[in-house]
Amino acid sequence: MSCSHSAILPGAVIGVLGSGQLGRMFAIAARQMGYRVHTYSPETDTPTGQVADVEIAASYQDLDSVRKFAKKVSVVTFEFENVPAACVEAAAEFVPVRPGGAVLHTTQHRLREKTFLAQNGFPTTKFLPARDLDELRAAVQSVGFPAILKTAGSGYDGKGQVKAHSLAEAEAACSAAGQQEMIVEAVVDFELEFSVVAARGLDGSFAHWGAIENQHRHHILDLSLAPARMPEKVTARALEIARLLMEKLGLIGVLCIEFFLTRDHEILVNELAPRPHNSGHLTINASHTSQFEQQLRAVCGLPLGSTEYYSAAAMANLLGDLWQNGEPNWTRACDLPDVKLHLYGKIEPRPGRKMGHLTALAKEAEEAGRRVIEARQRLTK
Ligand code: AMP
Repeated sequence: MSCSHSAILPGAVIGVLGSGQLGRMFAIAARQMGYRVHTYSPETDTPTGQVADVEIAASYQDLDSVRKFAKKVSVVTFEFENVPAACVEAAAEFVPVRPGGAVLHTTQHRLREKTFLAQNGFPTTKFLPARDLDELRAAVQSVGFPAILKTAGSGYDGKGQVKAHSLAEAEAACSAAGQQEMIVEAVVDFELEFSVVAARGLDGSFAHWGAIENQHRHHILDLSLAPARMPEKVTARALEIARLLMEKLGLIGVLCIEFFLTRDHEILVNELAPRPHNSGHLTINASHTSQFEQQLRAVCGLPLGSTEYYSAAAMANLLGDLWQNGEPNWTRACDLPDVKLHLYGKIEPRPGRKMGHLTALAKEAEEAGRRVIEARQRLTK
């Protein structure tokens, strides 16, 4: 189906809320296709700002600045979903915000998100709200120990997350979180974790990059392999969930769904991110259309691009920890000619901070995984 009548065409300005690496890779894709990019966040010299045409530094609460920013762009998208609803509403007075405010509202709050999933029949682990101590006690009793406690708002990469083995531990975690609402989840005994990164166009078209296998270290993504090593039937089920979910959300843009594959081959949705995702970074080198170009195409109302892979691929994250003994040895990693280096322009390499990633292509995902791990090891040798 053609959607050219409503398309935002090359030459137009795209507004990005947020200024991290996701915005940077989006901006690179947008500029490659002849668009201009304005980025908005509280900081300066940001990963996105370094490659955007214009970098606005203002608070997300400063709605006058948000309105000024929105007036100068043709569409607003985001790379950081924890922006206040009022900020999105202010931008939406002037231009479309894609994905829209309702999608953000659902996905930026774990309790709302899991409730939405459960109410619409999507499989999740057992969960209960804990908005006060009485609810907490009832919740942990119902899911049993150990239980996972997560703050309901603004958590990512395991931040605001605790595994409690007793009521005392659960209560301590709850009081450490202050007055915040929490969600209590049953621990999933999983065989592996995987994600589906998918896109939905303005015309309702759907595209995806299959299932991507994810390995975490200390709750932060460490390694992604595409395709995920699991039965095709499981992948097909996950893709169907992705398609239905995007329709249900009415989402225009990119969505990442993180899944658990349990030991008895059930799949459970863990988390949604209504934007490109770390596990999809390998699509830059491995696929005809990257997740970032696809986000651009979707939010501009262009037809979606082919998500076919050139080959299997793997991605290894480069965290700030690698800088512990000085600047990593980039030359030695680049000495593996099939490995691609991506760095995000961040000045301060704090432990746990995502500074960049490596991607390798190979016939098999496992082989690609070995290549990126070897390249990463070379960085500190
Ligand atoms: P999240 O911040 O929800 O994405 O969680 C980060 C990581 O913690 C996940 O990728 C899992 O490895 C782990 N995790 C989160 N929730 C659960 C759960 N209910 N059961 C087991 N592991 C979990």
